[in-house]
Amino acid sequence: MAAYETVIGLEVHAQLKTRSKMFCACGTVFGLPANTQTCPICLGMPGTLPVVNKKAIEMAIQAGLALNCTVNSKNRFARKNYFYPDLPKGYQISQYELPICEDGWVEIAAGSGTKKIRIKRAHLEEDAGKNVHATGTGGSRVDLNRAGTPLLEIVTEPDMRSADEVVAYLKMLRDVLVYLDVCDGNMEEGSLRCEPNLSLRPVGKKEFGTKVEMKNINSFKFVKDAIEYEVKRQTKVLNDGGKIHQETRLWDTDRGETAVMRSKEEAHDYRYFPDPDLVPLEISEEWIGELKKTLPKLATEVHEQFINEFGLTDYAAGVLTADKAAAEYFVRATATAVEAGLPKADGAREIANWATVDLRALLNEKGIGFADCPVKPEQLAELVVKKHKGEISGPIAKTVLAEMFSTGRSADEIVKAKGLTQVSDEGALAKIIDEVIAKNPQQVVQYRGGKEAVLGFLVGQVMKASGGKANPGKVNELLKGKLTS
Ligand code: ADP
Ligand code: MG
Ligand code: ZN
Repeated sequence: MAAYETVIGLEVHAQLKTRSKMFCACGTVFGLPANTQTCPICLGMPGTLPVVNKKAIEMAIQAGLALNCTVNSKNRFARKNYFYPDLPKGYQISQYELPICEDGWVEIAAGSGTKKIRIKRAHLEEDAGKNVHATGTGGSRVDLNRAGTPLLEIVTEPDMRSADEVVAYLKMLRDVLVYLDVCDGNMEEGSLRCEPNLSLRPVGKKEFGTKVEMKNINSFKFVKDAIEYEVKRQTKVLNDGGKIHQETRLWDTDRGETAVMRSKEEAHDYRYFPDPDLVPLEISEEWIGELKKTLPKLATEVHEQFINEFGLTDYAAGVLTADKAAAEYFVRATATAVEAGLPKADGAREIANWATVDLRALLNEKGIGFADCPVKPEQLAELVVKKHKGEISGPIAKTVLAEMFSTGRSADEIVKAKGLTQVSDEGALAKIIDEVIAKNPQQVVQYRGGKEAVLGFLVGQVMKASGGKANPGKVNELLKGKLTS
């Protein structure tokens, strides 16, 4: 049986985060009652004229620049004609011969190294509405809230060779768009939709095989599942002596397989032609230059900064920058802690620890992100400073954080109200230590006989007896003193 190489190219539709639609003033908020964000223009009424949203153009240019594309000065919108109930005009305004961006690339991690994925083009278009097949209403309905929302379609060359590379590319692309603040990157809500094109070719052969396009994939997991399924399916067809048909297949989440949606013969002839309602769009070098100057930092740059400037490990930097809100949270909390007198490296390490472990666990449990965290970055900083100064112990800090999270109160309030201040007073500690020594004669003998590991147990007993409030460093010191005297 022949061995095959997988070849994948991706088409991604990214919904641009403009406040209004691509060609009219309607809003773009997700999840509003059906047809409440519509006007004669996006409803496709005769006699209305589209007007280009400048912000959408700007976002497309920013994305193009970040993806190392050439931004074309000459742009043209085209009509892509087809009939479907969710498309009121009978055509979609898109770009055809002259896309806004071309010939870019991004670098992804692949195997133990990196790999460049070439970007063929990125063009602007408007989204369609949504057919709603609600049960009990006696038919299908159309919600046109989404009709006319700006999309950037980003198309790669067929450069990917595995599901892992596709996921790495998608995550990289999502990070770029999210850090630019041009797309919210939410795959479940459909703000980032990906259509992989996949073919197989015998290992060593140059020509590509016939490709299949896959749709309806709305999570990273499904991308991986769909690709793996399709590789198996195509391998079997070829090994059985069959042929791959060029077609579009839909991913079926429940069945875990792809099924034919339409064949090449059924493919639309879109009869593209320049939209006569929209004049050609000229993008000046000055405009591009201005946008280049104000391009926000990308995830990869922030990642480097977290390592070089804040001294984080590559791992911690990776976890924090994988989520832009987490990265911003970290920066603000660290700045506050440093202002309060913590050395930068200590503050950064501590905040990174809390943000990636305890706080993240609390957020996950509640199903919310850093942007909606009830503990504000300044409040986390206050807690970390308290712990660093020795006012509270590590275990108490954890309890206080959980309390801050559920009540929104400050660390100071909680510590005071509950009397959680760390006990460092030698007199008070000595009393507890004496009790522990008296209660554990056997362990004391063991320790004195050279079994030093027993010290940890005894420290633990003192901590427990103090309700977690004893200063562990002090306890260690005092215990050792008493045991060896
Ligand atoms: P179409 O006109 O059918 O949409 P395109 O040439 O525009 O095809 O390519 C669409 C996507 O399919 C691109 O991402 C491209 O990289 C990818 N692609 C093209 N040919 C192949 C192939 N033989 N195998 C896998 N992917 C392919
Ligand atoms: Mg296509
Ligand atoms: Zn409208």
